[in-house]
Amino acid sequence: MDCIRIRNLEVFGHHGVYKEENKLGQKFVVCADVFVDIRPAGLNDELKLSVHYGDLCNFMNDFMRTNTYYLIEAAAEQMARALLLRFERVSSIKLTIKKPWAPIGLPLEEVSVQIERGWHDAYIGMGSNMGDKKDFISEAVKRMGHDDDIRICEESSLITTKAYGKTDQPDFLNGVAHIKTLYTPNELLVCMNELETLAGRERKEHWGPRTLDLDILFYDDLVLDSKDLTIPHYDIKNRDFVLKPLCEIAPWLRHPLTGKTVRQMLDELEA
Ligand code: ATP
Ligand code: CA
Ligand code: CA
Repeated sequence: MDCIRIRNLEVFGHHGVYKEENKLGQKFVVCADVFVDIRPAGLNDELKLSVHYGDLCNFMNDFMRTNTYYLIEAAAEQMARALLLRFERVSSIKLTIKKPWAPIGLPLEEVSVQIERGWHDAYIGMGSNMGDKKDFISEAVKRMGHDDDIRICEESSLITTKAYGKTDQPDFLNGVAHIKTLYTPNELLVCMNELETLAGRERKEHWGPRTLDLDILFYDDLVLDSKDLTIPHYDIKNRDFVLKPLCEIAPWLRHPLTGKTVRQMLDELEA
């Protein structure tokens, strides 16, 4: 992807685990690969269609001066996030913070940390079959939207569906939201669980009635299996209450394991 590259920006900061470092300060050197779609600015020769590299440098200079961390790890993490929140056109950033005068009592050219952070596309399956179903879902979307680390891109309409698996319970209201997020998959799961808890969800029986269920359907084209998290969600292809709303907003989206699009999966399920 296109990228604006900043090399060896010298900034002064007070980061370090020693008191002297926090008091006296020292030189830090920052490199950044800032991933932005440059084509619009390239074709139109207009600065407002890109990101001003002077603004990026000033932002990093101010950030490194005005915040103090023990670790350059923390400085990098927080500065990457701050940049992604501040500059809307930036999709991801590779950031290196070097500490050439690191006080370790040994000759050392420099020590540095490098991280890559960015916005990820995720699709959230939303369901409710207790109380004011519509309100539980719209409240969850609102809360996601208020979270700095989540941006709502698109919401499907909500559909009423018969309960799946355990069928002797009230109908569900189901929908899907496309979001962009700075959270890792596990952080996103924690966030979804918190929203479920805020909606008063109690886990009594598997597939039992619930005020709110938020499942991570897709996260970029990631394939992940761990104790707490399976991505893509393991049962998408069998669930019309997931595929129908998903098909409304992303029929072209491809399952990273089967290679099938959402439209195809829905057609096959309905056949
Ligand atoms: P199903 O997962 O079949 O739709 P459910 O949504 O009713 O059933 P829950 O009780 O909400 O199941 O979740 C059980 C566990 O599933 C969660 O604690 C979570 O750790 C795990 N899980 C695994 N993969 C995912 C995912 N992609 N999204 C949400 N939870 C997941
Ligand atoms: Ca579910
Ligand atoms: Ca769930």
